[in-house]
Amino acid sequence: MKPRQRGRILMRAAELLLSRADEFGRIETLDNGKPIFEAAKIDMPAAAECLSYFGEYADKLYGDTFPGREDAFLMTLREPIGVVGAITPWNFPLLQALWKIAPALALGNAVVLKPASVTPLTALMFGELLAEAGLPPGAFNVIPGPGAVVGQAMASHPGIDKISFTGETETGKAILRAAAGTVKRVSMELGGKSPNIVFADADLDAAAKGAINAIFYGKGELCSAGSRLLVEASVHDALMEKIVDRARKLAPGDPLDPKTRLGSLVSEKQRENVARYVAAGRKEGAKLVAGGNAVSVGGKGAFFEATVFDAVTPEMTIAREEIFGPVLATLTFQNEDEAVAVGNSTIYGLAAAVWSRDIKRALRTARALKAGTVWINAYNLYDPGLPFGGYKESGFGRERGHHALEEYTQVKSIWVDLA
Ligand code: NAD
Repeated sequence: MKPRQRGRILMRAAELLLSRADEFGRIETLDNGKPIFEAAKIDMPAAAECLSYFGEYADKLYGDTFPGREDAFLMTLREPIGVVGAITPWNFPLLQALWKIAPALALGNAVVLKPASVTPLTALMFGELLAEAGLPPGAFNVIPGPGAVVGQAMASHPGIDKISFTGETETGKAILRAAAGTVKRVSMELGGKSPNIVFADADLDAAAKGAINAIFYGKGELCSAGSRLLVEASVHDALMEKIVDRARKLAPGDPLDPKTRLGSLVSEKQRENVARYVAAGRKEGAKLVAGGNAVSVGGKGAFFEATVFDAVTPEMTIAREEIFGPVLATLTFQNEDEAVAVGNSTIYGLAAAVWSRDIKRALRTARALKAGTVWINAYNLYDPGLPFGGYKESGFGRERGHHALEEYTQVKSIWVDLA
């Protein structure tokens, strides 16, 4: 198939997805528990935008020619890798998958997608949508099933040329080991424990709103969640008053109600994990200032209150481990150096944010933080053109932007003898 034709199919798929955003969003909400507002109004439009963004690249990725030899003509071709295995998590089931599928298909690869076993529905629906958009049979395949069986089989399978994985760091390590047998290409989007740093000169109302969005958007089941709030001591009380006030008002509600902003955790198992971390926070001496309890909404789901801990120290479990739930750990710092040191005191390096009206300080801090994305005076903002990925144990490789093109192509050098 000509690259331009592939591009047109992806653009058509983007239009179809946008026109069916409410239907896809509703299924995503039923599967994952996220508010319908997020699934239908944010995730699906963002997924459609990702398709059209990479659709436009289909016929616009060139090789190079190299000057410097009269006896030869030297050039490179950018070729697809072959069969890409995408293994994805349950927190943004379709959107995360499309960050992989869109560039992989645009650049001429075939894709085998294994969605998370608890949230396979929109992936299966999307297969039908791609067929409707004109993608030929076999180019896109979905295999739902348990990670330890299907995922492991994909990672070690000689017929799969690359694994693009998003999920927990420990799962990523298991996939790396399995992929070693066939020297597969791999890219890894893994976990996070991102610091959200508020300096005393920040706009505190904006920072409070941002901190709430950073940890409670997506119920905190976000790889990039701003799960560690680092506050300069002199504004601690003023900021915490605003944050606690907002957190207490953020009641869990029916995910299908368009007004709901805090939905159900993905499963009872995940709620038990979150409750265990809250118990550990209490036991280790952190101060619970909002939430902390499982709650019932309509007798179904796995709801948990918007939870805020204060007086957290870097060695506490809730400051070190990824909770993947609506639990904020607040730490206090005295100066910029300490903010950076505490911010970087984690095995992860996915994202971070800095709130300050001093652009020099904000940029200095952004540079010093070891994270793949740093927001300044914002949190959780994304654009398909800006690459996303991890430092340290948050992974390697980049999704989105032109950096993603590297992940789904390989370079062939051609030497034409002119002598
Ligand atoms: P997970 O690692 O449990 O599962 C992710 C996927 O891997 C699923 O499809 C699962 O079935 C599969 N899997 C599980 N065990 C496997 C194995 N042994 N071999 C092959 N595949 C296997 O992660 P999750 O609980 O679905 O998602 C939450 C995690 O994902 C968090 O750690 C979060 O930070 C991370 N995440 C990262 C990003 C990012 O972009 N960096 C984005 C979203 C989520």
